[in-house]
Amino acid sequence: MLDLKFIPYKYWLNESQMIKVDGHELPIVIVPKENWPEGKNDPTEFSSDENVIRVRSDYDYKKDPLNWMKHELIHYLLHKKGSKDDGKQYPTNNTERVAYTYQFKKFKQQGIKKFEDLPDLGKKHHEKILKKYWEDA
Ligand SMILES: [Zn+2]
Repeated sequence: MLDLKFIPYKYWLNESQMIKVDGHELPIVIVPKENWPEGKNDPTEFSSDENVIRVRSDYDYKKDPLNWMKHELIHYLLHKKGSKDDGKQYPTNNTERVAYTYQFKKFKQQGIKKFEDLPDLGKKHHEKILKKYWEDA
């Protein structure tokens, strides 16, 4: 039996659109909230297969309050460069390190001074490693 989750998004979504994030053109598709992968907390994800950034329909990607579009921008650019993931566990792998560091740098530029003051990114169980990325950002 076919599970909708395993059908590539491109077959049942409206077409991708280009948006600008930090001076880069990014292809995105908006995924209806009810079709977002179950158990996935983040409202965005980069698909290297489809080379597109998926955005859950309830996330305001234009305002990008959690800087997730900045995070996905890094995944997109690394993939474009042909940069390979080192295969370490999430989020200790090299691509997540670069993506989170950039995302955190944005929060710092927006005036957030302490890791504890970050908005909730749903990452409580990865706090130690993310705190390290925060310090490096
Ligand atoms: Zn990531």
